[in-house]
Amino acid sequence: MNARGQFLDETKALACVHCGLCLSSCPTYLETGNENDSPRGRIYLMRAMQSGLLDVEATTVRHIDLCLGCRACETACPSGVQYGSLLEATRDHIEKHHGRGMFQWLLRRLVIEQVFPFPWRMYVALWPVRVIRFLRLGFLLPKFTREMMELLPQRMVKGKLPAERLAKREARGKVGFIEGCVMQVMFGDTNESSAELLNRDGWDVITPRGQGCCGALYAHSGQLAKARDCARRNIAVFENEPLDAIIINAAGCGSTLVEYGELLKDDPAWAERAAAFSAKVKDLVSWLEVSRLTACGSREKVTYHDACHLAHAQGITAEPRELVKAKSGGELVELAESDLCCGSAGSYNLTEPEMASRLQKRKVQNIIESGAEVIVTTNPGCLLQIQSGLRKAGAHHIRALHIADYLLKASTAED
Ligand code: SF4
Ligand code: SF4
Repeated sequence: MNARGQFLDETKALACVHCGLCLSSCPTYLETGNENDSPRGRIYLMRAMQSGLLDVEATTVRHIDLCLGCRACETACPSGVQYGSLLEATRDHIEKHHGRGMFQWLLRRLVIEQVFPFPWRMYVALWPVRVIRFLRLGFLLPKFTREMMELLPQRMVKGKLPAERLAKREARGKVGFIEGCVMQVMFGDTNESSAELLNRDGWDVITPRGQGCCGALYAHSGQLAKARDCARRNIAVFENEPLDAIIINAAGCGSTLVEYGELLKDDPAWAERAAAFSAKVKDLVSWLEVSRLTACGSREKVTYHDACHLAHAQGITAEPRELVKAKSGGELVELAESDLCCGSAGSYNLTEPEMASRLQKRKVQNIIESGAEVIVTTNPGCLLQIQSGLRKAGAHHIRALHIADYLLKASTAED
């Protein structure tokens, strides 16, 4: 389909000077060696679609689909190219002008968009999984469904935080908490750990009712209008609370929440409110104070995986390492290619299972070679991807933990 139109901010696209310094950071280019699967190549394709030199057709869309949106190219780029924003605008354009095959359409429009952003729907949708696992009937399922099931944790903990959870000591202030869709359905105990850490750190934790999906899944899959609706809803829910910060413990959601200002910058009624909201958003790891943690004295060897949306989209790499070091008593082994995507990338491991699996194996191999017994990270998607990769590799001696669980459960009683 020939669909011309100004979907790209040409100034942002022209910031790319084609130097190629990002190529060695791009996971898909490292795997395929194809320039069209690199940041530079994709920016060429985006501009060619905008100018009408290329149609929005299957081959071009394939190279854009294969992009993880990991934004490692932004970290590597000396020209400050805002690749994530170019990608979101391009995907929005593609979804408006490109027809998907039946399978991809059902997966994207029904499963990913209609289930994942709604905790109750997700909870109900996971019941057949529990039954199939209990009855050990997985072998009857088609390969794709079996592989989807393998991504799910063995133990899923649903949990809702109370509207208010008070500080353990004299309160220093009040923070809001975003529960996250996947987090509250599968990692409710991790949300509990996060709130407990904040309480021990002296913060009252407010979890406003009425909050919803952050919109990341929509933004990353080319549904910007829906992502903006999510942003408006969350801003309206949080802006009436007098909060020192709005805390998130899922890096993928955090990277969208800190960009609400950008997402709504052209909406006069919301631009200022969105910028004020985003300015308050902090990832848990950049809010907790290292000096308040006590080393646990564990002799377990621990390593750290950089979630792309924390390291590349938010530039946070030192703080989680400092927290893990403070808790472990200095025992932190650096992981080779720590900031290379594990293949999870939101819903990428569902829409692009083949590339996701290649990156999962690469990540797991690096973890095994590090000799670590614990791998810590900051995003539920990475946790699911790494946990399932470790199971597939038979590396049952290595535990993958969210940093909140690591910091809390490795705690000594007096913390
Ligand atoms: S490093 Fe930046 S300027 Fe250079 S090719 Fe990559 S995106 Fe373009
Ligand atoms: S976002 Fe990640 S996969 Fe996509 S071009 Fe950039 S580095 Fe490559």
